[in-house]
Order: sequence, then C-alpha cells, then structure tokens
Amino acid sequence: MSSAPDFTYKLLMLGDASVGKTSLTHRYITGVFVDSPRLTIGVDFFSKKIKLANDKKVKLQIWDFGGEERFRFLLPTYSKGSNAALFLYDITSQKTLESLPLWIDIVRKNAGNIPIFLIGSKSDLEDHRVVTKEAALEYSNKHLCTKHLELSAKTGANVEESFEYITELLMDESKKLADTQ
Ligand code: GDP
Ligand code: MG
Repeated sequence: MSSAPDFTYKLLMLGDASVGKTSLTHRYITGVFVDSPRLTIGVDFFSKKIKLANDKKVKLQIWDFGGEERFRFLLPTYSKGSNAALFLYDITSQKTLESLPLWIDIVRKNAGNIPIFLIGSKSDLEDHRVVTKEAALEYSNKHLCTKHLELSAKTGANVEESFEYITELLMDESKKLADTQ
C-alpha cells in the first residue's frame, strides 16, 4: 500500500507482565506466534497498514509496553495522543484482571476519555480458565470499558477480528467528529 492512509490510530497495549501483549502484537503484525518473546524493555513500537471493507486505508500504530512496575513511569508520556487502549488480562489468572483499575487511571489521566478494550488473552487455555466470560463482561461494564473481547495469540483465534472491530469503531468515532465540525 503506497498511498497515504485515510486515518492513523495509535493503540496502547497495556496489562501486567506475561499476559501476552508482545505475542499479540507480533501475531497481529506478522501473523506468526513466537513462543518466548524476549522481555519488552520499556516500550516497543509497531505499525501496520490495513485496508477496510469500505476501501479506507488505515495505519495502526501499536505501542507495546513492558508491563513491569519499573517501566510504568514511561506510560504518561507515551499514552498522550493515543486513540484507544487495549487492556489485556490472562483468562487463567484472576490477578491480571484486577489490575485494570490501575491502568485505567493512568490512561484517563494522560489520554483522556479514549475507548478502553478489555481483552482476555490465551483463550486457547480453556482448560485452565479461571476468569469466566460472564465475570469479565460484568467487570468490563463496571469499569466502563467499550467492549470485552477474548482471543489467542497462539492459535490466532479472534485476533484479526478484534483489531478490525477496534479500527472500525475508531473510524465511526472519527466520522461522528467530522460530522459535528
Ligand atoms: P507480555 O509480557 O505481556 O508481553 O507477554 P508475552 O507476549 O511475552 O507472553 C508471555 C508468555 O505467555 C509467553 O511464554 C508466551 O508464549 C505466552 N503466551 C502469549 N500469548 C499466548 C496465548 O495466546 N496462548 C498461550 N497458551 N500462551 C501465550
Ligand atoms: Mg512484552
């Protein structure tokens, strides 16, 4: 795709260490699952150009944060100007879901009222699931997340679909904004 994109969106990938942020980013960008990605130091930056069903060209910039406490100081600066945040939790770990309020707080302070997507990762590990879909959905509503999704970077299940959903929602919002101006 050589021509300029119609829209560019900056997405933040957030959540505790080891929930699968880097694996998901990598799977979406390259289509491949890497078994043991190296630890994300600070923040990594990726971008992908896609063409939607309506022929619009969109460039997605994905900012993958190191989930470790020692990297969190970077977040306020990097979250400025982002269009959406993807908060990942691991469906086999209740603890990873419970850190959502902390991340929401940081995002709201620095990026304002952008959509936050609650994403259950590692959906291939159904046998080890501890967070039910119902509980996650309830949590999503309670914390005013825009949408709850589940996916697997390992199998690729629901990965393309989730990014498509997020991109289309952002495009709808851009259109609404343009209409009111
Ligand atoms: P990050 O710290 O959030 O960036 O997490 P990583 O992407 O580094 O992944 C942490 C660990 O979880 C790695 O061992 C991955 O191979 C594993 N992992 C990531 N995504 C999945 C998934 O969808 N399914 C399974 N079974 N394991 C995953
Ligand atoms: Mg990482």
